Amino acid sequence: MTIRITKKSSRSGIVGNIEELSGVNLSTCYQCKKCSSGCPVGDLAGSPPSEIIRRLHLGADEELLESDIVWMCMSCETCSARCPMGIDIAAVMDALRALALKKGTPAPEGNVPLFNRALLTTVKLFGRTYDMGMIAAYKLGAHKFLQDTGKFPEMLKKKKIALILPRGSDKKTVRRIFRKTQVKRDSKP
Ligand code: SF4
Ligand code: SF4
Repeated sequence: MTIRITKKSSRSGIVGNIEELSGVNLSTCYQCKKCSSGCPVGDLAGSPPSEIIRRLHLGADEELLESDIVWMCMSCETCSARCPMGIDIAAVMDALRALALKKGTPAPEGNVPLFNRALLTTVKLFGRTYDMGMIAAYKLGAHKFLQDTGKFPEMLKKKKIALILPRGSDKKTVRRIFRKTQVKRDSKP
């Protein structure tokens, strides 16, 4: 099937919102797919990063926010580092997540947004991640407090979970970053 791309179709859908949120100009992407070939979850996702960009070009609407890669993406920034056009695709993924949260789009599988919130809450409170706090917040939110408790002693033994509160972080600076990000996000679409 031949797809005709007109000036109008290339600016329809959510592409404008995403460009504004991420500060990225997506029109410079020429579909070399270097981002997708380096993405650790590209093969597992329904649409790898280059396809997400292409769908935005073609006027994808809010259905794009339901793509599994939006929540599978680990913000490793490999895609951004590999892009010959300097497109910050990781920032595009952040923007997709922010828009998905704002629109209340359901995550395709699991409860990644809850995990995301639990992780960020501990960073905001303690200045860095705190395993126990994050696990407790996630399990409370998911109403699965007793799930996986059998693995706990072994993980403690292998020092995979830190019980004591993290120390030495610059909490003031971290909270200032959260405040600034919140103001920036609230002032965007
Ligand atoms: S690496 Fe850059 S130019 Fe190539 S497909 Fe990905 S976003 Fe487009
Ligand atoms: S930042 Fe996300 S989309 Fe980009 S390579 Fe990493 S996992 Fe893939």
